[in-house]
Amino acid sequence: MNCAEKYTEIRSQLPAHVTLLAVSKTKPADDIMALYNIGCRDFGENKVQELTQKYNELPKDIRWHQIGHLQTNKIKYIIPFVYMIHSIDSLKLAVEVNKQAAKHNRVVDCLFELKVANEDTKSGFDIEELKQLFSQGALNELKNIRFCGVMGMATNTDDQAEIRKEFLNVKSVFDYIKDNYAAEVGECFTQISMGMSGDYKIAVDCGSTIVRIGSTIFGERDYAVK
Ligand SMILES: *Cc1c(COP(=O)(O)O)cnc(C)c1O
Repeated sequence: MNCAEKYTEIRSQLPAHVTLLAVSKTKPADDIMALYNIGCRDFGENKVQELTQKYNELPKDIRWHQIGHLQTNKIKYIIPFVYMIHSIDSLKLAVEVNKQAAKHNRVVDCLFELKVANEDTKSGFDIEELKQLFSQGALNELKNIRFCGVMGMATNTDDQAEIRKEFLNVKSVFDYIKDNYAAEVGECFTQISMGMSGDYKIAVDCGSTIVRIGSTIFGERDYAVK
C-alpha cells in the first residue's frame, strides 16, 4: 500500500471526531502532496527548520502542527504560520510563545504536554504543576495563547495495560482541568492529542481526539537522509 492508501485505511477506522494528524517528519514533499491530494490538511513535524522549509514549499492551506520539543530561540520561526503547538512543556516556553505571538498579532492554539510515561526522556507537566499554574493565575497573562487541551506520550513498551493506564491518566488530567478551571481555559479546551503508530487504537479507546501517526502511514523513517 502507498501512503495515501494507508492514510485512507486508518482514517476509515477512526471515529469521525478524531483528527488524523499525519506526522511527516523526515518525509519528502511528494509524500505530503500525495496525502494533500486526497484531502489531508493536518501535518505534524518536530523540527523547526524542517517545518519552516515545508511550510514555504507547500500549499498554504495546510495546518502545520508542531509536535516535538520546542526550543525558545526557535519559536519565532514558526509563530507566523503554525496551526497548533502540541508541546508546551514549561511555563517559560508558554511565556515565550505568548510574547512572539503578540508580536505577530496572533492567538496561537497550544496544548499542555503532560508527563505520564515512565521514561525520563519525556518532558511535560504533571497535574500538580498545572494546578499550581492555574491557582497562581500564571496563565491569565498569556493573552496570545489559547490553550485547547493536552498532549501525552505513553511509554515505549509492549505492555498494553501500562499504555492504557498512562492514556487514562492523560484523560483524567484533561477532565480535571476542564472541570475545575473552566473559567480560565474556556470553551475551546476540547483536544486530547495522544496515540502514535503503535498505540493509537488504545489512545482512541481512552478518549483521544487527535492521533499523531507517522511510520504506519509513510513507512519507517530514514534518519540518515535529511
Ligand atoms: C514521531 C512522532 C510521532 C509519530 O510516531 P510514529 O510512531 O511514527 O507514528 C508522534 N508524536 C510525536 C511527538 C513524534 O515525535
